[in-house]
Amino acid sequence: MRDAAPTTIYLKDYTPFGYVVDSVHLTFDLEPHSTRVTSQIAFTPNPEATDRSFFLHGEQLKLISAKIDGIAISPTVTEQGLSCDVPNAPFTWETVVEIDPANNTALEGLYMSNGMYCTQCEAEGFRKITFYPDRPDVMSVFTVRINGPHPVLLSNGNPVDAGPHWAEWHDPWPKPAYLFALVAGELLAHSSTFTTVSGKHVDLNLYVRPGDEGKCAFGMEALKKSMIWDEQVYGREYDLDVFNIVAVDDFNMGAMENKGLNVFNSSCVLASPETSTDDNFERIEAIIAHEYFHNWTGNRITCRDWFQLCLKEGLTVFRDSQFTSDLRSAPVKRIRDVIDLRGRQFAEDNGPLSHPVRPESFQEINNFYTATVYEKGAEVIGMLKRLVGDAAYAEAVDLYFARHDGQACTIEDWLKVFEDTTGRDLTQFKRWYSQAGTPRVNVTEDWTDGTYTLTFTQSTPATPGQPHKDPRVIPIAVGLLGSNGDEVRKTEMLELTEASQSFSFDGLSSRPTPSILREFSAPVILERDSTNAERAFLLAHDTDPFNRWEAGNALAKDARLNMITKGAAPDADYLDALQKLVRDDDLDPGFRALVLQPPSASDLAQTLFENEHAPDPQAIYDASETMAQTLAQTLADSLPRLYAATTVEGPYQPDAVGASNRMLNFRMLALLSRLDGGDQAAQQFASADNMTLQYAALVCLLSIDKGAEQNQAFFDQWKDDRLVMDKWFAAQVAFATPEKTAAIAATLTQHPLFDMKNPNRFRAVMGALAMNHAGFHHISGDAYSLLADWLIKLDPLNPQTTARMCSAFQTWKRYDADRQALIKIQLDRIAATPDLSRDTTEMITRIREA
Ligand SMILES: [Zn+2]
Repeated sequence: MRDAAPTTIYLKDYTPFGYVVDSVHLTFDLEPHSTRVTSQIAFTPNPEATDRSFFLHGEQLKLISAKIDGIAISPTVTEQGLSCDVPNAPFTWETVVEIDPANNTALEGLYMSNGMYCTQCEAEGFRKITFYPDRPDVMSVFTVRINGPHPVLLSNGNPVDAGPHWAEWHDPWPKPAYLFALVAGELLAHSSTFTTVSGKHVDLNLYVRPGDEGKCAFGMEALKKSMIWDEQVYGREYDLDVFNIVAVDDFNMGAMENKGLNVFNSSCVLASPETSTDDNFERIEAIIAHEYFHNWTGNRITCRDWFQLCLKEGLTVFRDSQFTSDLRSAPVKRIRDVIDLRGRQFAEDNGPLSHPVRPESFQEINNFYTATVYEKGAEVIGMLKRLVGDAAYAEAVDLYFARHDGQACTIEDWLKVFEDTTGRDLTQFKRWYSQAGTPRVNVTEDWTDGTYTLTFTQSTPATPGQPHKDPRVIPIAVGLLGSNGDEVRKTEMLELTEASQSFSFDGLSSRPTPSILREFSAPVILERDSTNAERAFLLAHDTDPFNRWEAGNALAKDARLNMITKGAAPDADYLDALQKLVRDDDLDPGFRALVLQPPSASDLAQTLFENEHAPDPQAIYDASETMAQTLAQTLADSLPRLYAATTVEGPYQPDAVGASNRMLNFRMLALLSRLDGGDQAAQQFASADNMTLQYAALVCLLSIDKGAEQNQAFFDQWKDDRLVMDKWFAAQVAFATPEKTAAIAATLTQHPLFDMKNPNRFRAVMGALAMNHAGFHHISGDAYSLLADWLIKLDPLNPQTTARMCSAFQTWKRYDADRQALIKIQLDRIAATPDLSRDTTEMITRIREA
């Protein structure tokens, strides 16, 4: 059965559901192809609703029976759900339905993964389990009985009772259906305990497939750190007797915060030094924290409707970034977040998929789990905190928890607690939620009679459906430096509210050098005429680590842009500045590694496009290669020393200090490989006793078009480990030279271990293809047609993953006419595919309308 014709849903049309759900009892009789779900739901007419029509969502369900107060009825059933007449008084609803988890390849609702049953209900998967008002503002208390032969039978809340082949669970906290979860399978538990701040004992379990027991310890420690952090920083305590996490191999997303039963993509929870890199460890720690933090920001206080998705996601991403900053290096975390924001969110915000942090309409909500809702949503929280200050932020958030616990809320509720605690009017600030697009902030400066003046002018380009934008409130953190590099004015938070506005600084003895938008205080594009000398000065002296990196990043981008557009040679001043910085052992190695990290090809392409040059991906690649080669030669004398100095002795530990050293160590190895043809990398590959070093060596070799032998050795060593195999598939495509990329990806799709039904494996190849900028945009067009072929094949099986991967084409209007024509052929071909899913149809339509 395919989707019905797409309909658009609007925020302004919200109305409450006509009935309150007092309680839900579910019984599952598990069978791979014919699971029976019996539901008993107590409904009461909702006094706050005017519309009393009774409609329950339900898709792909076989209705066996339906009863009201024990009397059989015959409701009207469509592809979307069920309707019937009901009493105008409290009543008990009972249905039995049959579903087919074994044939559920969309991985939404109840499905099977390697013989294990699991669920994914956010956003609208519960309607594939039983008939229900599947909307987040309908919250209820769930009791669940599972009948099945599996040794482990799990659901939300606390265990009530269990026997051979059955278990019963009760969740005392009212929740929307999207937080429902069920897991059944042959699983092993890695167990521990936690005592909360008020002395409550909590059992913690991380359930995995047999064979994965050795990869649980890190995730468990990360969970405990998260629980302590949320008590200490946000005063939030855990509220059930157990907290369970389950690792699942087939999963569309990273992880899901179901109440008391988090379900994780195994790539986001399983870790060991032999199989995981430093980046994997950091990401796992952050995702475990993120899902745990949702227990309060998302579960106890949920969203009224899906337009409010940023209410839980923006806030929780912000909270997990605070957690990582506290546990690791705050400047490194901030810099990496901004690189990611510019790479993914700015691309989205400045293209055909641009939408507000709180969208006002959608056809398929699954298409709005975006960088804008998540990452820009988190930036908006960060700005709010900068504007009101840390103490007022804490006070407002406390009020939010006190006032709204147990409710389904809106962005208005969230902003109101800030207005009530601070007395501020946030009407203008709210435009960050309603206006799409990345603001441009232009800066000019003036120095007259000892007064230094900065004038800011803001504007936001038109985005789909929003031709005109009003000025926003933009917090701009500014510090001023004297000629010897001393800070003459500490950081001040300027509040830009007008289209154009000036700020003056008096009492200065000489003209200062400004450090603007410190800590990246707002997600904007700063436009300012600067010189390389000034950037080099800031790179050497700025006391704000983010802006120090930013100065280096601007130099790095400029040097490459001049090579691409003017045929310039690699800039000597830039190379000189890098040389000084890299040798400065007083600086954090991780910070130095980030300064050495080349700007991404996509970032360069976007900048070229903004400056009215159609970016040539091959020219960007060539310039980056030449720059890397020149840099390696410039640093030749220091490389062996720095490589040795950053080699971490002793057994591998996934700690921040070790990871920071290994980041710089990797940069040194990459440069060394350009001088020695990969000898040092081959040596490191052979002697590595952990995945960080082994994978780094492989990447260095593949990047210089070498390493065939190591690639085979890597496969032979790890062919039985599916997560490491994802790395193997991805690395060969991501680091291939442009002319070989599509062919390598095509060959890998024929590999016996390629499985399109597994989202991790599919993304390993196709995601890497889209990430390899010059390879994906190779003028042959081979990569475009290969990706389109596979999206068309995947769509009938897994619309959600297909639709998300369509975003690889979202920047198509940046490129030259030839490439645009090649991409258009593929977009048209996908659009013309018969029975295309609602998810993919919406994405392709929006992208084509660019
Ligand atoms: Zn989340």
